[in-house]
Amino acid sequence: MRLFTCACHAQSFFASAAHSPDAAGSNPVPSSGGPVAPAVLADLAAASRILAQQGVFDAFGHISLRHPTDPKRFLMARSLAPALVTADDIMEFDLDCVACESRGRSGFFERFIHGEIYKARPDVNSIVHSHSPSVVPFSLVQSPMRAMYHNAAFLAQGVPVFDIREKFGQTDMLVGNHTKGAELARVLADKPVALMRAHGSVAVGPSLQHAVFRAVYTEVNAKLQLQASMLGGPIAALEPEEGALADAVNLNVVQRPWELWKQRLEG
Ligand code: MN
Repeated sequence: MRLFTCACHAQSFFASAAHSPDAAGSNPVPSSGGPVAPAVLADLAAASRILAQQGVFDAFGHISLRHPTDPKRFLMARSLAPALVTADDIMEFDLDCVACESRGRSGFFERFIHGEIYKARPDVNSIVHSHSPSVVPFSLVQSPMRAMYHNAAFLAQGVPVFDIREKFGQTDMLVGNHTKGAELARVLADKPVALMRAHGSVAVGPSLQHAVFRAVYTEVNAKLQLQASMLGGPIAALEPEEGALADAVNLNVVQRPWELWKQRLEG
């Protein structure tokens, strides 16, 4: 028998079904999208720890998953260091980033990155936001990030850079509201990765495993591109058509690195 548990507390689910006001009497508490299998919550928590172990996350960074049965909800850990996330830390939000039930927990300040990309991209089911260090320099310079090898083929579609100054002027650099999240989603457009100037990046995918794969290989690609540039001369990066062909292969093999990285969590 398969057991299910609800990401939102049952009482909240019942009470919020009629969109009753929250304790503050202001924002309506959204209803839950429904129960989520424990294995799904465990995998989302494992993804957070994998990205920490792979050097994509440090004390900061977050990964989310669109609700498996309700596209207008997503799942994401409460605000804490990614290496510490367990299934019990997973919260459920609507696409306006309001928690279905907070139980005293706080969501990440930059959760609007996730909510707004899910609104704009029905093809996306998982999102990683990180400050992975090798990627940051490419958000600062004129030379674009390009796909250095087949594992990073998804970058051959082009890697846009979100410069928060362009629309919002002088800020704290954080994507802490709907407007900034929507602008980031606009810049990302239909691409798998966008850089964020002097901040970090987002990587998106059709599944949790794809988003993790892309976040890891964006970091690896950044190191390779720096090395290639140090050798001098033009860089013979993947062309867009080569990228499309290679990415089609990658999309079918993401389970292999996922199983490896997950097993390493236990070692
Ligand atoms: Mn950030």
